[in-house]
Amino acid sequence: MKQLADKLYTTGRLMPDEYKSLIEGRNNELSEYLFEKARSIRIRNYGHDVYIRGLIELSNYCKNDCLYCGIRRSNSTAQRYRLTKEEILECCNTGYGLGFRTFVLQGGEDGHYTVDKMTDLIRSIKAAFPDCAVTLSIGERSYDAYKAFFDAGADRYLLRHETANPQHYSRLHPASMSFESRKQCLYDLKKIGFQVGCGFMVGSPFQTVDRIVEDLMFIKELEPHMVGIGPFIPHHETPLAGCEPGTLELTLYLLAIIRLMLPAVLLPSTTALGTIDPKGRELGILAGANVVMPNLSPVSVREKYMLYDNKICTGDEAAECRYCLQKRVESIGYRIAVSRGDHKSIL
Ligand code: SAH
Repeated sequence: MKQLADKLYTTGRLMPDEYKSLIEGRNNELSEYLFEKARSIRIRNYGHDVYIRGLIELSNYCKNDCLYCGIRRSNSTAQRYRLTKEEILECCNTGYGLGFRTFVLQGGEDGHYTVDKMTDLIRSIKAAFPDCAVTLSIGERSYDAYKAFFDAGADRYLLRHETANPQHYSRLHPASMSFESRKQCLYDLKKIGFQVGCGFMVGSPFQTVDRIVEDLMFIKELEPHMVGIGPFIPHHETPLAGCEPGTLELTLYLLAIIRLMLPAVLLPSTTALGTIDPKGRELGILAGANVVMPNLSPVSVREKYMLYDNKICTGDEAAECRYCLQKRVESIGYRIAVSRGDHKSIL
C-alpha cells in the first residue's frame, strides 16, 4: 500500500482501482505516511504559510432545493436575510483591518443579486480594496453572467461539484439540477479566466468509495486551483436529517490525497471539519491543507446561514475568529499570511 502512496507522491496520479485500494486499505500507519508526504509537498510549495479568506455570507435566500442544505428553498423555518451593499463593504473594511486580502462572497442562489447588482458590488469592493482578491461562491449562472463578474474584477469562483457521479448527484439534488450543468459551469469559469474551485462533501448520503474515486478522477481532469472538501453534516430541517455525518478520519485522508494529486492546490481546512472535531481545522492543515476561511459576516446574521447543524463560530465577532484561528495555526507551527494567497501558477 505504501507503494501506491509513493506513486501518488512522485507522479501526482493513480489509476481508478489504485485510488480505490488506497482508500479501502487505509489504516493509522498509512494515513500518517500519507500526511507526512502531503505536508512535505505543501511546505515545498507554500512554506508554513496559511492563507486566510474572509467569508461574507451575502444571503440565505435560495431558489434551489439541495436535499442536504439547511438554506434550501423548502426549509420554511429558515429566517431569510440578505446583506446590503453597505453592510458588505463594512465587512470588507473590518476584514481589511484584520489582515484579510481575500473576500469570499458566498450565498444561496438569490435572484435579488442580478448581474448589474453583482458587478456594481464587485467594482465597489475592488475600488476600495485594490490589493484584495474577490472570490464568488453564488452558484450556477450563465456564461455571460460569469463573464460580466470576471470583467468587473472578480478573481476566483468556488463551485463545488458535489459529486461527479450523475446518479449520486440526482439523489442529492432536485430534478431541476444536474451534474452536467454543474460541470459546464466549472468549465465556463475556467475558460473565462477565474481561479476555480470545485469540491465535495465527504460522507454525503449514498456516497461510496467508487464514487469518491470518480470525484478524484474528475478533480484531476478539471485541474482546479482550489478544492473545497469537508464532512457532510446533517441539518435537522432537511430530508437527509437522519443520515450519518461524514468522518474526520476520511476527510483528512482525502485532503492528503488531493494535496498529492495537485501539489500547488489551494486547499481549505473547512469550517465543517472544525465543526465535527474541535481540532479538525488544525488536523486538516497537518494533512496538507493551506487555507482557512474564517467568518466575516455580521454577527446578527451568522445564526441564519446554517447550512448544517451546530456550525461553529456563529456567536463570534470577526476579530475573535481571526485571533482564535491565529492561535490555532501557530500552535501547530504554521503562520497566517497577510496576502492575497494566489495559486502558485498565478504568481
Ligand atoms: N449556493 C452556493 C454556495 C453553497 S454553500 C453554491 O451552490 O455553490 C457551500 C457548500 O456548503 C456547498 O457547496 C456544500 O458542499 C456545502 N454544504 C451544504 N450543506 C451542507 C451540509 N449539510 N453539510 C456539509 N456541507 C454542506
